[in-house]
Amino acid sequence: MAIILGVESTAHTFGIGIVKNGKVIANKRDMYTTDSGGIIPMDSAKHHREVSSRVYLEALGEAGMDEKEIDAISFSQGPGLAPCLIEGMKFSKELSKRLSKPLVPVNHCVAHLEIGKCHSAYPKLRSKGATGAKDSVLLYCSGANTQVISYAAGKYRGFGETLDTGVGNFIDTFARYAGLGFPGGPKIEKIAKLGKNYIELPYSVKGMDVSFSGILTNLKQKLERKEYSLEDLSFSMQETVFAMLLETAERALAHLGKKELVLGGGVACNSRLQEMSKKMCEERKAKFFCPERSLLVDNGAMIAYLGEIMFKSGIEFSGKKAQELDIKPRQRTDEVEVSWKK
Ligand code: AMP
Ligand code: MG
Repeated sequence: MAIILGVESTAHTFGIGIVKNGKVIANKRDMYTTDSGGIIPMDSAKHHREVSSRVYLEALGEAGMDEKEIDAISFSQGPGLAPCLIEGMKFSKELSKRLSKPLVPVNHCVAHLEIGKCHSAYPKLRSKGATGAKDSVLLYCSGANTQVISYAAGKYRGFGETLDTGVGNFIDTFARYAGLGFPGGPKIEKIAKLGKNYIELPYSVKGMDVSFSGILTNLKQKLERKEYSLEDLSFSMQETVFAMLLETAERALAHLGKKELVLGGGVACNSRLQEMSKKMCEERKAKFFCPERSLLVDNGAMIAYLGEIMFKSGIEFSGKKAQELDIKPRQRTDEVEVSWKK
């Protein structure tokens, strides 16, 4: 039996999750927000520093346990914003020292993939016979990241990614041009529901990769000309961009011969993306897994979940070795040394 505490701090969210034998028993977070503009890394890091103790105590409270029961502490080592990663790592190192418990460094993107395996967090679905994913392809759609990743031939590998911005940042920029605040994604989703006419936009899939900058310029011009309603433009943007993402995810499923798709990242909260993903999976007889919202967005539970898998396979750093660990802001998925899979 193991109880793992996971610390997430790659960007705007400071999160602490606790997992006990594959079951999420706590998942608390606090998000840095701005009135206008994007994330300022140093400000976000300051936010993490200020909320860390409170979020930690809330997580222990939710789990109803004492900190002495923690067996190991996992933390997001990368990729992410360096100042933010440092705060999470510092917090984890101090805790590791104080409790004399080992550290497990975790890759944030792989954690989004692996949390798709976790069905024990949803008792309601479980009672209906739902299971977690076993060997899936992840379509990871967050603010800064857009990737299709999966485990193949001994490593986690990226099978496609954005060539410019992440899909969330792209949608947020479009929203900003339209005079909407941050985050624009949920607002655009609501407006898109009122759109009726599909307006042709550039469709940009290059091999397994996608790009958004051309579509953004095109949308900006269309907004400036005021020929189309924001409702129709938002609707058309979602249809186009989500189709691009699903084209690459579907191709990865086909090439890898895999039968499970998992969604991850904040943009995956979008109900139209979920609906299109489900349809694609039905058409190719694949299973579709969409973690609940609290596990889709950046969260400590997924870090604890992967941390537990790694810890149980013997990956842990104690004492001086733990204190010498460093962040990996630009860590690529295929750089992750995998010794915990068959
Ligand atoms: P993350 O970086 O994973 O925390 O996700 C944040 C991004 O998700 C931001 O760019 C949001 O605009 C976007 N987002 C959140 N909810 C939605 C939604 N319902 N539809 C589209 N994008 C969303
Ligand atoms: Mg993320």
